[in-house]
Amino acid sequence: MPFKKLKAESEELGIPFWRMPDFVLVFMAIINTFVMIVTYAWASNMVEDPREAVLLVAAMAALIMVVGNIMTESAKHIVRTNKLKKEFIQIISHQMRTPLTMIKWNVEKTIKLGNISTQQLDLLHKIEEENEKLKMMVNDVLNMSRIEEKKSKIKIDRIDIVSKVKECIDALQDYADAKKVQIHLECEQNPFFVNADVNKVGMVLMNIIENAIKYNRERGRVDITIQKDGEKAKISVKDQGIGIDTKEQGHVFEKFYRAKGARKKEPQGTGLGLFITKSAIEQMNGQVELESRPNEGATFTFWLKAKK
Ligand code: ADP
Repeated sequence: MPFKKLKAESEELGIPFWRMPDFVLVFMAIINTFVMIVTYAWASNMVEDPREAVLLVAAMAALIMVVGNIMTESAKHIVRTNKLKKEFIQIISHQMRTPLTMIKWNVEKTIKLGNISTQQLDLLHKIEEENEKLKMMVNDVLNMSRIEEKKSKIKIDRIDIVSKVKECIDALQDYADAKKVQIHLECEQNPFFVNADVNKVGMVLMNIIENAIKYNRERGRVDITIQKDGEKAKISVKDQGIGIDTKEQGHVFEKFYRAKGARKKEPQGTGLGLFITKSAIEQMNGQVELESRPNEGATFTFWLKAKK
């Protein structure tokens, strides 16, 4: 029902029902029609002095302007709130990065100093792990807001995708070891040059490989293959994890979407990684695809233009 939907929307946006642009628009259309009918009836039957008709039309125009003003104010209010929200997210996530890095340094320093028991070392590793998760979440939020603000610029260069993949595997090796997951890489060509943005490719690979580790089964494998596919490089990341239900596969690239199984296995997560991944790949004129069977694993494949 449109009325119910509008009411729900007004509650969601936090503005009164009568200030919703849709409502004001309908209200204005009603007034307009009413004004036309009344003016016609009055002018044709009752008005002898044309000035009276002009006055009536002027009064109605003033009323329409008042309603129009309410509408523009509502729209401005929505835009202002949205801007504040985006700024808030950007400031908070940006400011959080420094203390998180400090925690990481201090934990590493404490471990290096030695003289600690195995139990203390265990606890420090747990702090490191949770800190890393928090850092990844903060990065997701920051990257998402940059994409939404269209602030994330793109710089296409000639990059070797094989060394980039190896770099990401190295960065995630500790995480894979902790999860007892093995990572294998197979490439048809080495080096393999593509046209891409070096930072964005890194972000895409980190997201996809990290997910392949995170949602894998214990002692599972992650198989990464790099192949030539016509004029393109085809990069696939296959895991043996929980997989994604067929009904949910179409949604995983949406902002904040997390599948039911994932929420159960890994309660922490933003549901932003794949949204960022897809946007970054599309910015580089590439494509991304997902293939999965529940409880058997998932394969994420993306294509980038190969450098001639
Ligand atoms: P997050 O991992 O923080 O939840 P992502 O945007 O990276 O967010 O992923 C969105 C959702 O897609 C995940 O919550 C999960 O349901 C699903 N998903 C992504 N990668 C995999 C994978 N390799 N195996 C199973 N599910 C996955």
